[in-house]
Amino acid sequence: MKEKVVYWITGSQTLYGADVLEHVAKHSEEMANYVNEKMPVTVKYLTTCKSSDEIVAAMKKVNADEDCIGIITWCHTFSPAKMWIKGLSILQKPMCHFATQYNEKLPYDTIDMDFMNENQAAHGDREFGYIVSRLRMDNKVIVGYYKDKKALKQLAAWCRAAAGIAFSKTVKVCRFSDNMRDVAVTEGDKVEAHIKFGWQVDYYPIGDLVQYIEKVTDGEVDALMKEYEKKYVMKTDRIDVVREQAKYEIAIDKFCKEKGGYIGIVDHFGALHGLNQLPGIAIQDLQSKGYGFGAEGDWKVAAMGAVMQYMAGQKGTGLMEDYTYDFADELVLGAHMLEVSPQFAGTKPEIQVHPLGIGGKSDPARLVFEGIESPDAVAVSMIDMGDRMRLIIQKIDLVKWPHHMPNLPVGGLMWKIKPDFKTGVAAWIYAGGAHHTVVSSELTVQDMVDLANMWGIESVVIDENTKIEQFKKDLMYSDVIWKNR
Ligand code: MN
Repeated sequence: MKEKVVYWITGSQTLYGADVLEHVAKHSEEMANYVNEKMPVTVKYLTTCKSSDEIVAAMKKVNADEDCIGIITWCHTFSPAKMWIKGLSILQKPMCHFATQYNEKLPYDTIDMDFMNENQAAHGDREFGYIVSRLRMDNKVIVGYYKDKKALKQLAAWCRAAAGIAFSKTVKVCRFSDNMRDVAVTEGDKVEAHIKFGWQVDYYPIGDLVQYIEKVTDGEVDALMKEYEKKYVMKTDRIDVVREQAKYEIAIDKFCKEKGGYIGIVDHFGALHGLNQLPGIAIQDLQSKGYGFGAEGDWKVAAMGAVMQYMAGQKGTGLMEDYTYDFADELVLGAHMLEVSPQFAGTKPEIQVHPLGIGGKSDPARLVFEGIESPDAVAVSMIDMGDRMRLIIQKIDLVKWPHHMPNLPVGGLMWKIKPDFKTGVAAWIYAGGAHHTVVSSELTVQDMVDLANMWGIESVVIDENTKIEQFKKDLMYSDVIWKNR
């Protein structure tokens, strides 16, 4: 992600003379360099803008630069905002307005009018904010001294989201099946998703994959088996069953790469003609390498999984499914029939082979493990409301399994829900959140809200502040607002 660049653009004007502008440029560079070290992306000072033409030129550069994912703007001095109109009108990338200063404290003993003229962010930020507001731009405002840890944390979240937006535009999902018959929540408008998020969602008959599977060589399987043995514990003597999964993994990976760079994968336990097992460890291992996966045709989860994996640096992120509750201890057990990413493993994953009661295929090999612990994780669901997409973001605490589950041959997570079990579950259901989610221990609610804002879609947050009656009212207001957009 550090390859991605956010340009720092400073606003000023020529009124204060060349000396001041020299200081402004020097300060801006120093601040951008400091901020850069704390960000997951590269932050680079671009220029100090003093006129409409300069701003238009800067925005053209930002739009055309493929590595650039967004801009940070800041007004060191007063920057008359009419000159920002043309430039901001053509800006095609996310913008964060950093209301900051070169100095943290006022120099009470020495402050004079020269200092006032050179350091008037409080003044310039307002003028700039007016025009952004007038242009109805949905930008982010972050306030704080540029070394302030909280402000930098917010800025890092925004940078991750901006990088996620750029990555999202490249996401292609390969579907080996339609979504599951009769299931509602995994449906959705793929054309709208292509327009809003840039997701290209393509269908291929599973037979096309079978042709790839048939071409996998023993040597390729041997190499991947060595990788499995290094990362996982072989707890089966049915090696042929595991080798079959390795074959699937190699074939799927090759298929996705050769057919044009698919980073999301969708399959369906009921559409496996030509395969004798449901892909288990194959999909689990692919998720550990950055692929997003959606089960039962769930292409929205596959695409979200890919985007969130990218944002999370391929850690602690993947498909999850709300399975069953422990009402006594107010916990949720999340898992799937096989395909839980080893990025969620809190114990060393074991390769096991067991029958699968669904799909009518032979016993599949899968990774079995207990889940990680991680406070302040997120569970995310994207649903199609018919006239818009809604992103539901729930704050959860991933907890250590309170008991071993020796008869449960899958990987899984257990979590506590914010603000409390009953409120959190009710809110999720009122909002229409799906059973399939993408969970991430690395991403925060703020990352996901920023992402939704940059996409220009509705987001719904369930966290420690959620109160059910207010939440239901918010959903009603939100419905009116989003219907009219
Ligand atoms: Mn499922």
